[in-house]
Amino acid sequence: MSRPRAYLFDLDGTVYRGSEPCPYAADVLGELCREGFVVRYLTNNSAARPDQVTHKLHAMGIPCEPEWVISSTHVAAAWCLSDGVSQVAGIGEIGLFQTLNDAGVEAVPAEECGSAEALVVGICRSFTYAMMSAGLDLVRGGARFIATNRDATYPLEGGRFQPGAGALVASLETCTGVAPLVMGKPEPAMISLALSGTGIEVSEALMVGDRRDTDIACGLAAGCPTWLVLTGVETQLMPGESGSDDLRELLK
Ligand SMILES: [Mg+2]
Repeated sequence: MSRPRAYLFDLDGTVYRGSEPCPYAADVLGELCREGFVVRYLTNNSAARPDQVTHKLHAMGIPCEPEWVISSTHVAAAWCLSDGVSQVAGIGEIGLFQTLNDAGVEAVPAEECGSAEALVVGICRSFTYAMMSAGLDLVRGGARFIATNRDATYPLEGGRFQPGAGALVASLETCTGVAPLVMGKPEPAMISLALSGTGIEVSEALMVGDRRDTDIACGLAAGCPTWLVLTGVETQLMPGESGSDDLRELLK
């Protein structure tokens, strides 16, 4: 294949698995950066703060700058700003509230809001019935229902899983009867946001990930070439599909 101008990497299962880097991740990412390619990290994890991701990658010897990290909360913030929404109710963790506030969207916990233009829901490991109830009131009161992502589970070390944001979003979808607007992968917005300001077209980038139903589907929806690595969820390539066992093939 001809070399892309930008490489867009999913994180979990593509660059690392929990606290372990994926095979050859440090070598390949280091080489791509030395060669001058644009590298970005795209994660559905709404709680991931760019500085924390950067710190984690640096500890693995993988190059990263905070501006290279785009989470589903960044997409939610961009949506709010483009829609003129400057204040939202949130259900999520500190990373969600900080990312929205840093982007200029005032985010207040849903339980503390009487009304809001939008309700942004991300992973929240302290999720309660009271939060669900507040979310129901807000959506019934006219707040737009924004889901950072619909991921059912969140992978941990040792092959374990935690419930993902999708499980919380489903509870709110059930009680409100309203389908959310989804921000993260497989929706295509994260790719255009990742490339904004680079001068690189979506067709000139490569979306690299370990899941067909999020990473690869996101690339296809955005019109971005894709590359499936078999270091995470998927275990084999389909006929004609672009991909490889690990990241080394990207240097060829
Ligand atoms: Mg992944």
